[in-house]
Amino acid sequence: MPELPEVETVRRGLAPSMEGQVITHAQVNRPDLRWPFPPDFAARLTGRRVERLRRRSKYILADLDGGDSLLIHLGMSGRMTVSGDPLGQFVHTHPAREKHDHVILDMANGARITFNDARRFGAMDLLPTDRADAHPLLARLGPEPLGNAFNEAYLVAALRGRNTPVKSALLDQRIIAGLGNIYVCEALYRAHIAPTRRAGRISAARVAALVPVIRTVLQEAIEAGGSSLRDFRRTSGELGYFQHRFDVYDRAGQPCRTPGCTATIRRTVQSGRSSFHCPQCQR
Ligand SMILES: [Zn+2]
Repeated sequence: MPELPEVETVRRGLAPSMEGQVITHAQVNRPDLRWPFPPDFAARLTGRRVERLRRRSKYILADLDGGDSLLIHLGMSGRMTVSGDPLGQFVHTHPAREKHDHVILDMANGARITFNDARRFGAMDLLPTDRADAHPLLARLGPEPLGNAFNEAYLVAALRGRNTPVKSALLDQRIIAGLGNIYVCEALYRAHIAPTRRAGRISAARVAALVPVIRTVLQEAIEAGGSSLRDFRRTSGELGYFQHRFDVYDRAGQPCRTPGCTATIRRTVQSGRSSFHCPQCQR
């Protein structure tokens, strides 16, 4: 499932082909994904210029001239592909239509953006740009982990008095937007905090130290995604999935990488999801 760095990588990969460009043709091949598409979806996209491509949590928002924004959610298995030669440096010609190509956008510069989603947990919607924060998917989201509103004072206050495990608190999208299982495991590992620790029982100093760690873990993954963007032009044109080295996630039974630590990484199940931690250096 794509997490914030993967979604940000998709956004950065789409931006050169979409920003400032008019959607000359929109092809919508079914009535719905996870939810129905908005009424007259293809007609309302056609002829619109994409003013800006931005991200909120794990959602991509294309702000269109005319006052609407196109919301794109990749869900579990959504894939975005760029074909055509908009920048004069791509080698992809438009591929034959594949089975799960649900939405295809042709841009004025010759780029074709294809949304493919075999499992259809993804979503697309149109919403008024000036009221985007009121959309049901966006309304209750906490601050962006890479934004200014997410800081030491905020996180200390947000976790104070909470009896839930710190891992559950960090996965709560109302507290921080866009953090998922993988990067929460990584951040808690680097901060040496056990995922099962009650959030409200961790000292303010250790909670504050989590903030730069969360930012760094995400930034490193986004940089890895940026490297993948330099390669994707030569491969399939598919955006956002890249190799990234994790320190703790999916490393059960392997040696802990903390200098001086002799323990092995342990996998547990917490709230129905895999958790990975070092029993020795995470407390
Ligand atoms: Zn360790």
